[in-house]
Amino acid sequence: MREFRYERATDVGGAVSTLAAAPSGVFLAGGTNLVDLMKLGVLTPDLVVDVRRLNSDRVEELPDGGVRIGASMPNSDLAADPTIRGRYPVLSAAVLAGASGQLRNLATTGGNLLQRTRCVYFQNVTTACNKREPGSGCSAIEGYHRELAVLGHSPHCIATHPSDQAVALAALDAVVRTSGPAGERTIALADLYRLPGAEPQRDTVLEHGELITAVELPALPFAANSRYRKVRDRASYAFALVSVAAALDVADGVVRDIRVALGGVAHKPWRATRVEEELRGGPVDPERFRAAAEAELAAAQPLPGNAFKVPLARNVIVRTLLDLAGVPR
Ligand code: SF4
Repeated sequence: MREFRYERATDVGGAVSTLAAAPSGVFLAGGTNLVDLMKLGVLTPDLVVDVRRLNSDRVEELPDGGVRIGASMPNSDLAADPTIRGRYPVLSAAVLAGASGQLRNLATTGGNLLQRTRCVYFQNVTTACNKREPGSGCSAIEGYHRELAVLGHSPHCIATHPSDQAVALAALDAVVRTSGPAGERTIALADLYRLPGAEPQRDTVLEHGELITAVELPALPFAANSRYRKVRDRASYAFALVSVAAALDVADGVVRDIRVALGGVAHKPWRATRVEEELRGGPVDPERFRAAAEAELAAAQPLPGNAFKVPLARNVIVRTLLDLAGVPR
């Protein structure tokens, strides 16, 4: 590992200004992904600014009925929080589906959102990777891409975003609060992440030195009927091949409202707006659910090694919605 300078920030403003003045500096929160990437030589910052203790580490009620999650809240605490478990169970389940117990104890809410892709070429400095080294090429397109994207990718990068938590937050219409060199702002989670386009090195719209301070969830009463289903190669400690975060409001056999997001299929959590539009206001019907899932996935452009993800995603969407609608197997 290359030598670097370590500073522990004492307030958000100081952390932001310190990092803004260090072009190759990075924020450190739980460090569960950053330290690995530094050991691998993928990231070689000359300054690490520790922000772990700067933000709230708990869930707070908001006056409008929503909640605010502090960016420093450990993943384990978030998953176990009674408010989250009762009102947003999809989020608790998504967090518990990620990593391992030890990692969740250390990883934070803000850091989880900013973890990097686990594309094997991104993590191997001996291979070409546009995300790690812009302009060098993409080894995955002609190489190993079983875990990679089928939606929204580009000829420059087909990576997927690894966070389970982010998929649930996308479905819940979460917003991210940040503090940066240009001041504070609020970003819808759906807008936080980028598709790769011609700049796959940029995962998010955050500016250098911009720090996530909190995540807010709107009051969404029907989110009490929500779940997260993750399909992966082993039962734990594996990233999603496909995942679905969904919330469903059903009354008298009619879908009154719905939220669906997909993980493991794109460079960002994929909000399944087509599924939502097709099903909102219509009857609970397995065939309609299937048609809506197929409409969402019509834009998929799988590669030979990951074509299985398209029917897999369709089936997981349908089964998850049927479970939420109370349709027996
Ligand atoms: Fe790099 Fe993206 Fe290609 Fe993976 S898919 S090798 S991250 S450019």
